Amino acid sequence: MQALLYLKYLTPLKIYNYIRLYFSYLLKRINKLSYPAFISFEPTNFCNLKCFECPVGNGKSLRNKGFANIELFKKIISDNKKYLINILLYFQGEPFIHPQIEKLIEIARENKIFTEISTNAVLIPEIFNKIKNSLPDKLIISIDGITDETYLKYRKNSDLNKVTETLDLLSALPRKIRPYIEVQFLIFKHNQNDISKLKEFLSYYKIDKISLKTAQISDFENINILPDNPKFSRYKLVDNKLMLKYPIKNKCKRIIFGSVISFDGKLLPCCFDKNSQNVLGNVNKSTISEIRNSIKYQNFVNQVFTDRKKISICNNCTEGQKNIKISL
Ligand code: SF4
Repeated sequence: MQALLYLKYLTPLKIYNYIRLYFSYLLKRINKLSYPAFISFEPTNFCNLKCFECPVGNGKSLRNKGFANIELFKKIISDNKKYLINILLYFQGEPFIHPQIEKLIEIARENKIFTEISTNAVLIPEIFNKIKNSLPDKLIISIDGITDETYLKYRKNSDLNKVTETLDLLSALPRKIRPYIEVQFLIFKHNQNDISKLKEFLSYYKIDKISLKTAQISDFENINILPDNPKFSRYKLVDNKLMLKYPIKNKCKRIIFGSVISFDGKLLPCCFDKNSQNVLGNVNKSTISEIRNSIKYQNFVNQVFTDRKKISICNNCTEGQKNIKISL
């Protein structure tokens, strides 16, 4: 249970803020959102891999590339630390490419905020000595195949040996400094047969959780890459057309509880806005709280809670969908 991991970082004020946000969500009282309980902050949108369904990896991303500035990160933490429970140090790109990633983790930790990173884990062996005393509280490691053939089909440019080397290094750490490790397996047709052998493949390492995750596809024509078992897909076929399995409801927890900040300070509604189409403010110029209370933000939230289908990113997101992640 992720909530248990947060325990040592909780304070009465953080719990109070969380409850307020929860009631805002339930009652659709979205006019006073103030502080987020979760922030996803992008250290960089550069990546070492070329995963074909990722806009950074497949080269279709329309965004400029760069690295987050430490001073900007300090400002965000300082403005939000009283209420912030979890900082996810990722959005797009590979976080461990940031030359000062351990500094970002240390700053969050000094301010008593839970830290979480999702990584392809390829670069970790190279920088392990530099980061081993400043690892995040939780690491999500992507492994979507147990052989070079199945793994490299999606994780192009990668190296499965480097990923298992990372798992070896992490497994050798004392529990006190070893992060909670979740291995995440994105399910496609080409790797579906690896699922039954995944547990055994990972049994040599100290892993806290293995999750199977249904894949998001950007092109609804791309049916061929989805697994055969409908249980492992977030989409269904209706009249030969692909659509999300569950109805799209006019509500969204993410925009109420969290904020996503790109490396250059743009505040986005959520991690589904991969091309920054819906910039709601810039944290270089305003605080997150000011942005969340601005007309622009309120209008966006209103649109989500009244007619979400009109926002293009909201038509292919996981909000309201079930079984997106399946524990193994
Ligand atoms: S895409 Fe829309 S509904 Fe989905 S998480 Fe983002 S804002 Fe919410």
